[in-house]
Amino acid sequence: MILDNKRRHFLFVLVIVSGLAACAQSNESRHSVGTSRPPTTRGATSSKDVIATTTILAALVQTVAQGKFRVHALVPAGVSPETYEPKPRDLVSLEHAALLVENGAGLEAWLHKILSSAGSPNLQVLVLSDGLPQGIRSTNNLYANPHYWLDPIYAQTYVEEISAALGRLDAPNASEYRSNAGKEISRLQALDAWIRRQVATIPPQNQAMITYHDAWYYFDRRYGIRDLGSIVSSPGKDPSAAEFAALIAKARAKHVRALFAEPEFSLKLINQLANSAHIRTVTDLYDDSLGQTAQLSTYEGVMRYDVKAIVDALKNG
Ligand SMILES: [Zn+2]
Repeated sequence: MILDNKRRHFLFVLVIVSGLAACAQSNESRHSVGTSRPPTTRGATSSKDVIATTTILAALVQTVAQGKFRVHALVPAGVSPETYEPKPRDLVSLEHAALLVENGAGLEAWLHKILSSAGSPNLQVLVLSDGLPQGIRSTNNLYANPHYWLDPIYAQTYVEEISAALGRLDAPNASEYRSNAGKEISRLQALDAWIRRQVATIPPQNQAMITYHDAWYYFDRRYGIRDLGSIVSSPGKDPSAAEFAALIAKARAKHVRALFAEPEFSLKLINQLANSAHIRTVTDLYDDSLGQTAQLSTYEGVMRYDVKAIVDALKNG
Protein backbone atom coordinates (compact mmCIF):
# COMPACT_ATOMS: atom_id res chain seq x y z
CA MET A 1 0.00 0.00 0.00
CA ILE A 2 1.25 3.42 -0.96
CA LEU A 3 -0.27 4.98 2.13
CA ASP A 4 1.54 2.54 4.35
CA ASN A 5 4.81 3.38 2.66
CA LYS A 6 4.12 7.07 3.09
CA ARG A 7 3.33 6.53 6.75
CA ARG A 8 6.47 4.50 7.29
CA HIS A 9 8.53 7.09 5.48
CA PHE A 10 6.90 9.84 7.46
CA LEU A 11 7.33 8.14 10.80
CA PHE A 12 11.01 7.73 10.09
CA VAL A 13 11.30 11.46 9.35
CA LEU A 14 9.16 12.30 12.35
CA VAL A 15 11.40 10.37 14.73
CA ILE A 16 14.53 12.07 13.42
CA VAL A 17 13.10 15.58 13.28
CA SER A 18 11.22 15.32 16.55
CA GLY A 19 14.41 14.29 18.25
CA LEU A 20 16.25 17.28 16.82
CA ALA A 21 13.40 19.61 17.64
CA ALA A 22 13.23 18.34 21.20
CA CYS A 23 16.93 19.14 21.66
CA ALA A 24 16.78 22.56 20.03
CA GLN A 25 13.43 23.82 21.19
CA SER A 26 12.61 22.07 24.40
CA ASN A 27 11.06 25.20 25.90
CA GLU A 28 8.59 25.71 23.10
CA SER A 29 5.05 24.50 23.49
CA ARG A 30 3.05 23.20 20.55
CA HIS A 31 0.03 25.24 19.56
CA SER A 32 -2.09 26.26 16.63
CA VAL A 33 -2.69 29.73 15.28
CA GLY A 34 -6.14 30.88 16.23
CA THR A 35 -6.29 29.08 19.56
CA SER A 36 -6.37 30.96 22.83
CA ARG A 37 -2.94 29.73 23.79
CA PRO A 38 -0.32 32.48 24.01
CA PRO A 39 1.99 33.13 21.04
CA THR A 40 5.19 31.15 21.08
CA THR A 41 8.50 32.94 21.34
CA ARG A 42 10.61 31.24 18.75
CA GLY A 43 14.34 30.94 18.96
CA ALA A 44 17.07 31.24 16.33
CA THR A 45 16.41 27.70 15.10
CA SER A 46 12.84 28.53 14.07
CA SER A 47 11.77 27.56 10.58
CA LYS A 48 11.10 30.31 8.06
CA ASP A 49 9.00 28.05 5.86
CA VAL A 50 5.32 28.67 5.36
CA ILE A 51 3.35 26.02 3.48
CA ALA A 52 0.08 26.99 1.82
CA THR A 53 -2.12 24.28 0.38
CA THR A 54 -2.70 26.04 -2.98
CA THR A 55 -0.69 28.39 -5.17
CA ILE A 56 -3.41 31.07 -4.86
CA LEU A 57 -3.20 31.02 -1.06
CA ALA A 58 0.61 30.96 -1.28
CA ALA A 59 0.46 34.10 -3.45
CA LEU A 60 -1.62 35.88 -0.79
CA VAL A 61 0.87 34.81 1.90
CA GLN A 62 3.70 36.12 -0.29
CA THR A 63 2.17 39.61 -0.48
CA VAL A 64 2.28 39.78 3.33
CA ALA A 65 5.59 37.97 3.95
CA GLN A 66 7.48 39.86 1.22
CA GLY A 67 10.46 37.51 1.37
CA LYS A 68 10.71 37.24 5.15
CA PHE A 69 9.38 33.67 4.97
CA ARG A 70 9.92 31.03 2.31
CA VAL A 71 6.46 30.30 0.96
CA HIS A 72 5.59 27.05 -0.81
CA ALA A 73 2.38 25.47 -2.08
CA LEU A 74 1.59 21.78 -1.66
CA VAL A 75 -0.72 21.51 -4.68
CA PRO A 76 1.16 22.50 -7.87
CA ALA A 77 -0.24 25.10 -10.29
CA GLY A 78 -2.69 23.52 -12.70
CA VAL A 79 -3.76 20.76 -10.31
CA SER A 80 -7.18 20.68 -8.67
CA PRO A 81 -6.95 21.01 -4.86
CA GLU A 82 -10.19 19.07 -4.46
CA THR A 83 -8.74 15.90 -5.99
CA TYR A 84 -5.06 16.28 -5.09
CA GLU A 85 -3.26 13.22 -3.78
CA PRO A 86 -0.59 14.13 -1.27
CA LYS A 87 2.99 13.08 -1.96
CA PRO A 88 5.57 11.80 0.51
CA ARG A 89 7.52 15.04 -0.03
CA ASP A 90 4.51 16.96 1.37
CA LEU A 91 5.00 15.25 4.72
CA VAL A 92 8.64 16.30 4.72
CA SER A 93 7.69 19.90 3.78
CA LEU A 94 5.19 20.03 6.64
CA GLU A 95 7.74 18.62 9.01
CA HIS A 96 10.06 21.56 8.33
CA ALA A 97 7.43 24.30 8.22
CA ALA A 98 6.55 26.86 10.86
CA LEU A 99 3.05 27.46 9.53
CA LEU A 100 0.54 25.63 7.37
CA VAL A 101 -2.04 27.86 5.70
CA GLU A 102 -5.12 26.04 4.47
CA ASN A 103 -8.45 27.25 3.12
CA GLY A 104 -10.64 24.77 4.99
CA ALA A 105 -14.39 24.41 4.33
CA GLY A 106 -13.79 21.06 2.67
CA LEU A 107 -11.34 22.19 -0.03
CA GLU A 108 -8.44 20.07 1.18
CA ALA A 109 -10.11 16.88 2.42
CA TRP A 110 -6.85 15.01 1.74
CA LEU A 111 -4.90 17.26 4.09
CA HIS A 112 -6.32 15.87 7.28
CA LYS A 113 -5.19 12.38 6.40
CA ILE A 114 -1.59 13.50 6.26
CA LEU A 115 -1.85 15.99 9.13
CA SER A 116 -3.02 13.26 11.45
CA SER A 117 0.32 11.58 10.86
CA ALA A 118 2.39 14.70 10.13
CA GLY A 119 2.42 16.11 13.60
CA SER A 120 5.40 18.44 13.57
CA PRO A 121 5.75 19.61 17.16
CA ASN A 122 5.95 23.28 16.18
CA LEU A 123 3.70 23.36 13.14
CA GLN A 124 1.01 25.98 13.48
CA VAL A 125 -2.11 25.72 11.36
CA LEU A 126 -4.11 28.66 10.02
CA VAL A 127 -7.51 27.77 8.54
CA LEU A 128 -8.44 30.87 6.57
CA SER A 129 -12.15 30.22 6.12
CA ASP A 130 -12.50 29.96 9.91
CA GLY A 131 -11.90 33.73 10.07
CA LEU A 132 -14.99 34.53 8.00
CA PRO A 133 -18.22 35.28 9.85
CA GLN A 134 -20.29 32.20 10.65
CA GLY A 135 -23.20 33.22 8.38
CA ILE A 136 -20.91 33.48 5.38
CA ARG A 137 -19.56 30.02 5.99
CA SER A 138 -22.96 28.35 5.70
CA THR A 139 -24.63 30.26 2.89
CA ASN A 140 -24.70 27.47 0.34
CA ASN A 141 -27.52 25.23 1.47
CA LEU A 142 -26.58 22.30 -0.72
CA TYR A 143 -23.06 21.66 0.52
CA ALA A 144 -20.08 23.59 1.78
CA ASN A 145 -18.56 25.68 -0.99
CA PRO A 146 -14.94 26.48 -0.14
CA HIS A 147 -14.15 29.08 -2.87
CA TYR A 148 -14.33 32.22 -0.71
CA TRP A 149 -11.10 33.70 -2.07
CA LEU A 150 -12.70 34.46 -5.43
CA ASP A 151 -14.63 37.22 -3.67
CA PRO A 152 -11.98 39.95 -3.16
CA ILE A 153 -13.76 41.15 -0.01
CA TYR A 154 -13.30 37.73 1.61
CA ALA A 155 -9.74 37.67 0.27
CA GLN A 156 -9.10 40.80 2.34
CA THR A 157 -10.10 38.85 5.46
CA TYR A 158 -7.67 36.13 4.42
CA VAL A 159 -4.88 38.72 4.12
CA GLU A 160 -5.65 40.10 7.60
CA GLU A 161 -5.54 36.60 9.07
CA ILE A 162 -2.23 35.84 7.33
CA SER A 163 -0.77 39.08 8.64
CA ALA A 164 -1.80 38.23 12.21
CA ALA A 165 -0.39 34.69 11.90
CA LEU A 166 2.98 35.85 10.54
CA GLY A 167 3.11 38.51 13.26
CA ARG A 168 2.63 35.83 15.92
CA LEU A 169 5.42 33.75 14.39
CA ASP A 170 7.80 36.68 13.97
CA ALA A 171 6.80 39.37 16.46
CA PRO A 172 9.71 41.76 15.74
CA ASN A 173 8.44 42.18 12.17
CA ALA A 174 4.72 42.19 12.99
CA SER A 175 4.28 45.86 12.08
CA GLU A 176 5.87 45.23 8.68
CA TYR A 177 3.42 42.38 8.02
CA ARG A 178 0.55 44.68 8.99
CA SER A 179 1.87 47.33 6.63
CA ASN A 180 2.27 44.82 3.77
CA ALA A 181 -1.23 43.52 4.42
CA GLY A 182 -2.60 47.06 4.39
CA LYS A 183 -1.08 47.65 0.96
CA GLU A 184 -2.51 44.39 -0.39
CA ILE A 185 -5.93 45.21 1.04
CA SER A 186 -5.82 48.58 -0.74
CA ARG A 187 -5.07 46.73 -3.98
CA LEU A 188 -7.96 44.36 -3.33
CA GLN A 189 -10.32 47.28 -2.65
CA ALA A 190 -9.31 48.81 -5.98
CA LEU A 191 -9.78 45.40 -7.58
CA ASP A 192 -13.29 45.16 -6.14
CA ALA A 193 -14.23 48.60 -7.50
CA TRP A 194 -12.76 47.69 -10.91
CA ILE A 195 -14.73 44.40 -11.03
CA ARG A 196 -17.96 46.29 -10.27
CA ARG A 197 -17.30 48.67 -13.16
CA GLN A 198 -16.48 45.76 -15.49
CA VAL A 199 -19.57 43.73 -14.57
CA ALA A 200 -21.74 46.83 -15.06
CA THR A 201 -20.79 46.81 -18.76
CA ILE A 202 -22.50 43.41 -19.27
CA PRO A 203 -26.14 43.74 -20.36
CA PRO A 204 -28.23 42.69 -17.30
CA GLN A 205 -29.93 39.82 -19.14
CA ASN A 206 -26.49 38.35 -19.90
CA GLN A 207 -25.24 38.45 -16.30
CA ALA A 208 -25.42 34.69 -15.68
CA MET A 209 -22.76 31.98 -15.43
CA ILE A 210 -22.66 28.21 -15.75
CA THR A 211 -19.34 26.74 -14.70
CA TYR A 212 -17.56 23.42 -14.84
CA HIS A 213 -17.20 23.33 -11.07
CA ASP A 214 -18.74 25.61 -8.48
CA ALA A 215 -15.77 27.95 -7.94
CA TRP A 216 -17.58 31.20 -8.79
CA TYR A 217 -20.49 31.03 -6.36
CA TYR A 218 -19.27 33.78 -3.97
CA PHE A 219 -17.91 35.93 -6.76
CA ASP A 220 -21.26 35.79 -8.54
CA ARG A 221 -23.12 36.66 -5.38
CA ARG A 222 -20.85 39.62 -4.64
CA TYR A 223 -21.28 41.13 -8.10
CA GLY A 224 -24.92 40.29 -8.73
CA ILE A 225 -24.27 37.68 -11.41
CA ARG A 226 -26.79 34.84 -11.51
CA ASP A 227 -25.05 31.53 -10.73
CA LEU A 228 -27.04 28.99 -12.73
CA GLY A 229 -25.09 25.96 -11.62
CA SER A 230 -22.11 23.80 -12.49
CA ILE A 231 -21.54 20.63 -14.45
CA VAL A 232 -19.92 18.76 -11.55
CA SER A 233 -20.93 19.19 -7.92
CA SER A 234 -17.22 18.88 -7.11
CA PRO A 235 -14.20 17.91 -9.26
CA GLY A 236 -14.21 14.16 -9.76
CA LYS A 237 -17.99 13.88 -9.23
CA ASP A 238 -19.53 13.74 -12.70
CA PRO A 239 -23.27 14.46 -13.04
CA SER A 240 -25.89 11.81 -13.74
CA ALA A 241 -27.44 11.83 -17.23
CA ALA A 242 -30.58 13.43 -15.78
CA GLU A 243 -28.64 16.18 -13.99
CA PHE A 244 -26.66 16.91 -17.14
CA ALA A 245 -29.82 17.07 -19.28
CA ALA A 246 -31.42 19.44 -16.75
CA LEU A 247 -28.41 21.76 -16.93
CA ILE A 248 -28.54 21.82 -20.75
CA ALA A 249 -32.25 22.66 -20.58
CA LYS A 250 -31.58 25.44 -18.10
CA ALA A 251 -28.75 26.89 -20.22
CA ARG A 252 -31.09 26.97 -23.22
CA ALA A 253 -34.08 28.37 -21.33
CA LYS A 254 -32.04 31.15 -19.71
CA HIS A 255 -30.11 31.92 -22.89
CA VAL A 256 -26.82 31.56 -21.05
CA ARG A 257 -24.03 33.18 -23.05
CA ALA A 258 -21.00 31.18 -22.00
CA LEU A 259 -19.77 28.20 -20.06
CA PHE A 260 -16.67 28.69 -17.92
CA ALA A 261 -14.03 26.13 -17.02
CA GLU A 262 -10.43 25.77 -15.99
CA PRO A 263 -7.52 24.31 -17.98
CA GLU A 264 -7.01 21.46 -15.51
CA PHE A 265 -10.32 19.76 -16.35
CA SER A 266 -11.36 17.48 -19.21
CA LEU A 267 -13.18 19.20 -22.06
CA LYS A 268 -15.52 16.29 -22.72
CA LEU A 269 -18.54 17.36 -20.66
CA ILE A 270 -17.80 21.04 -21.24
CA ASN A 271 -17.95 20.68 -25.02
CA GLN A 272 -20.96 18.40 -24.80
CA LEU A 273 -22.92 20.98 -22.82
CA ALA A 274 -21.75 23.88 -24.97
CA ASN A 275 -22.70 22.09 -28.17
CA SER A 276 -26.08 20.98 -26.84
CA ALA A 277 -26.99 24.43 -25.56
CA HIS A 278 -25.29 26.33 -28.40
CA ILE A 279 -23.18 28.50 -26.16
CA ARG A 280 -19.53 29.44 -26.27
CA THR A 281 -16.92 28.15 -23.86
CA VAL A 282 -14.18 29.86 -21.90
CA THR A 283 -11.85 27.11 -20.76
CA ASP A 284 -8.93 29.04 -19.32
CA LEU A 285 -10.17 30.56 -16.09
CA TYR A 286 -7.77 30.39 -13.14
CA ASP A 287 -9.55 30.05 -9.83
CA ASP A 288 -8.16 27.26 -7.68
CA SER A 289 -4.64 27.77 -9.03
CA LEU A 290 -2.23 30.36 -10.39
CA GLY A 291 -1.17 30.09 -14.03
CA GLN A 292 2.24 29.99 -15.67
CA THR A 293 2.60 33.58 -16.96
CA ALA A 294 3.81 36.65 -15.05
CA GLN A 295 0.29 38.10 -14.94
CA LEU A 296 -1.07 34.84 -13.54
CA SER A 297 1.53 34.71 -10.76
CA THR A 298 -0.46 36.86 -8.29
CA TYR A 299 -3.98 36.72 -6.92
CA GLU A 300 -4.77 40.19 -8.25
CA GLY A 301 -3.38 39.33 -11.70
CA VAL A 302 -5.45 36.14 -11.86
CA MET A 303 -8.61 38.00 -10.88
CA ARG A 304 -8.12 40.73 -13.46
CA TYR A 305 -7.42 38.13 -16.15
CA ASP A 306 -10.49 36.08 -15.23
CA VAL A 307 -12.83 39.05 -14.95
CA LYS A 308 -11.76 40.29 -18.37
CA ALA A 309 -12.42 36.82 -19.85
CA ILE A 310 -15.81 36.54 -18.11
CA VAL A 311 -16.95 40.03 -19.09
CA ASP A 312 -15.81 39.62 -22.72
CA ALA A 313 -17.67 36.32 -23.01
CA LEU A 314 -20.90 37.54 -21.41
CA LYS A 315 -20.94 40.84 -23.33
CA ASN A 316 -20.23 39.31 -26.70
CA GLY A 317 -21.39 35.73 -26.39
ZN1 LIG B 1 -12.36 24.43 -6.81
